[in-house]
Amino acid sequence: MISSLSYEVELLSRMVEIDTNVATGEGYREFAKHMVEEARHLGLEVKVHDAVIEATDGRSRPNIIVNLNAPTDRTLILAAHYDTVPPGEGWRYEPLKLTVKGNRGYGRGACDNKGDIAAAFGALRELSKKSQVKRNVVLALTPDEEVGGELGLGFLARKNLLKGEGAVVMDGSPEAVVVGTSGVVWGSIMVQGVGGHAGYPHTAVNPIEKAIPLLEGLKDYSRIRGEKRSNLPSPPGSPFERVWGRFTVTMIKAGVKENVIPNSCEIRFDMRLCPEEKLSSAIGEFRKYFQALVKRHGLKANLTILKQWTPSYIDPKHPLVEEFREAVKWALKREVGVIGELGANDAQHIYRQMPTITYGVIRGDSNIHGADEYVRFRDVQTVRDALIKFCLE
Ligand SMILES: [Zn+2]
Repeated sequence: MISSLSYEVELLSRMVEIDTNVATGEGYREFAKHMVEEARHLGLEVKVHDAVIEATDGRSRPNIIVNLNAPTDRTLILAAHYDTVPPGEGWRYEPLKLTVKGNRGYGRGACDNKGDIAAAFGALRELSKKSQVKRNVVLALTPDEEVGGELGLGFLARKNLLKGEGAVVMDGSPEAVVVGTSGVVWGSIMVQGVGGHAGYPHTAVNPIEKAIPLLEGLKDYSRIRGEKRSNLPSPPGSPFERVWGRFTVTMIKAGVKENVIPNSCEIRFDMRLCPEEKLSSAIGEFRKYFQALVKRHGLKANLTILKQWTPSYIDPKHPLVEEFREAVKWALKREVGVIGELGANDAQHIYRQMPTITYGVIRGDSNIHGADEYVRFRDVQTVRDALIKFCLE
């Protein structure tokens, strides 16, 4: 197998220089144009499906599909997102430039997720030179993952543009094969009061004080939700052996001035599901708990679900998982286990259509979403080689 990484590092460097931050999406088209040229350069078939037709903001959302055609009817889907979070503050290195230091490459998106795109292109480049390829490969490069992926992988799934025996969402760790992702629910609770002058509190109903017993109740709910357990092992460093349910109050907003009692107090939360759970039942359970809480304390409060990510799950014993683990073992020179992920990812859009696993170059210390994000080139190599092995006879 090949060991040089010069192609992947050079491609990664070109990708990091194109700002594809999800907040503006301004670099999406340039990125797409660049990757279409790169795919053609490698002799691969490539098509762009722009989800602009479904975008309420009218902005372009190019989804790029690259095909490696093999004389077989088996097809593997690879999905990797190209949007990044904005660069943010506190960098030691230039965020929109790949800085190479030894075995590491620093830059926004160098790891999440352009490092995986580099690994995928490296694999396709190598496979395109071989004659004994046993799987067609469809590589989907998609935008908007950092905001839920509805116009990215979600769009391709809705349009039925991805058909395969299985998929690898390239957005995970090289040390484990992810077979389940946690679902996520974001919600808002608005506690109503009656605003007034703080000098005359007897004429007002303070929603901040009303929120106190509600917050106590939500803290209890964290414990209740924390008792839920998945069958899948948690990632290393977790406080529990198996993936668990979570509920966290993450924002409180009320008031504008010291001497004004506000009209309302808003509480926002993040709820996480085990991979085997159902969104509707988890939300239903919470709604019931919330209503009882509101009734018990005689509050005026309503609950709004703002956003949700479906959990995904596939049987860890599925033949595709076992075969992929074999390929990883070959590339990494040691065995890796299966785990459930504590976050959500693009697997939510396709796991119902085909068995979907997550694997990639992201490690716990890669600083993804933070300053000085970096990828280890050795991990790019591992991911690339595992993909090559998985697709070769
Ligand atoms: Zn990612």
